[in-house]
Amino acid sequence: MSETPSYIEFAEYSEHVPTNIPAAVQQATARFLGNRQLRIGEMPQWEELRQAASDIRLHTLLNLDSYLEKLEQQVTQAGGTVHWAEDAEAARQIVLGLARQHNVKTAVKVKSMATEEINLNHAFEQAGIEAIETDLGEFIIQLAGMGPSHIIVPAVHMKKEEIAQLFQEKLGVDAPPDPIKLTAIARTALREKFLNAEMGISGANFLVAETGTLVIVTNEGNGRMCTTLPDLHVAVVGIDKVVPDWESLTVLLKLLARSATGQKITTYTSFMTGPRRQEGESGPKEFHLVMLDNGRSKILQDPVGRDVLKCIRCGCCLNVCPVYKNVGGYAYGWFISGPIGAIFSPQVLGTEAARELPFASSLCGACVDVCPVKIPITQILLHLRRRVVEGDSIAPASAAPMVRSGAKLGALAFGVPWLYKLGTQLLPVLMAPLAKAGWIKALPAPANRWTRVRPFPAFAGGFRQWWHRRKK
Ligand code: SF4
Repeated sequence: MSETPSYIEFAEYSEHVPTNIPAAVQQATARFLGNRQLRIGEMPQWEELRQAASDIRLHTLLNLDSYLEKLEQQVTQAGGTVHWAEDAEAARQIVLGLARQHNVKTAVKVKSMATEEINLNHAFEQAGIEAIETDLGEFIIQLAGMGPSHIIVPAVHMKKEEIAQLFQEKLGVDAPPDPIKLTAIARTALREKFLNAEMGISGANFLVAETGTLVIVTNEGNGRMCTTLPDLHVAVVGIDKVVPDWESLTVLLKLLARSATGQKITTYTSFMTGPRRQEGESGPKEFHLVMLDNGRSKILQDPVGRDVLKCIRCGCCLNVCPVYKNVGGYAYGWFISGPIGAIFSPQVLGTEAARELPFASSLCGACVDVCPVKIPITQILLHLRRRVVEGDSIAPASAAPMVRSGAKLGALAFGVPWLYKLGTQLLPVLMAPLAKAGWIKALPAPANRWTRVRPFPAFAGGFRQWWHRRKK
């Protein structure tokens, strides 16, 4: 459902966030964080695990070419087929081609952020193929005609009453606002689809290069249904999801569920290596793995930005982010939101289309403190802000000329002591007509973006003057 945006209007959206979203998001994320804290308390080696995970992810990225080759070898040896997709369009065409070859009318989907990234559902719709999301949260937002608003809980912004209303309208059933009953309704609606679908589409949490194994971590049984019932299983996965071996996987699995929902382990952790070997075994007849690049190779060339690819999509950075918790996921304009979205989208879509996102942060660093693979999110945000304003070898500057001039002026003022001193003497005088009781209620544009939501403290004079007075 997530269309590839040509421009993400974070600031515009943030000003019109529906009032129900922050409350629903904060309630759910607080629960996850509470559980996470309990799990960490049980693990004295938590910090060592984080460091090990960070090292494993970085090592894999720096040697990605050889691990990808190994993965391809192993998947092929296990009877599967690997396809390489340079961009979203190539990935869509590969999956559509497979669907047409097998005369697919209905496909069931599970756990696939990569298919959100390539907007596969839309392509299927255009081709007249029904694609059904089977994760409960994804099923709900698909019915509502929306994209995900959180990495692991896509319908986090919706209350049970809204979901009941949606089921009544779209499924024509009597749906009480009771989570157990709503789940039962979804299960009944989906069962038929599982049994009749000709194609199962999945993503993967990890791909183990050592054996060519696809790993799916989920709390619902739909993962196994999607990947074993239909005769054709197609997995669309980012090239960054590869891990070297089972030992590395163990470290990452220990961190993933605990960081995401605060569980020790999720209900289902499924491992799939190729299609079924012989008739009578369960599993698909054919297994295809579509490896999606879509800008990732380019990100790898940037020594600062590339750490974004260490992400294991636990969603914890969203749960702690004061900005995300107040605006929800849709403000980030694409399938991935929160702090990880703010550093991923500008690098994939480009800093022209997503230039507002690196600024969608207070830089408090809460995300860095919790990230299980130690991604320096704030450092990458600053790096991308610089790219937006000044440009670099990866992308030219994309900020408006006025913002760029302002930034240059600021850099000059802070870099030349006498100019800084003069500014601190002039500013209180210039601001005096706007200030009342030490606060300014409305600043002129473009600074009015601040005062539209909160007052600005009147400039009271510089540190030097204060120090001088104090010494006297
Ligand atoms: S950036 Fe870190 S905390 Fe955020 S989703 Fe990725 S792994 Fe989790």
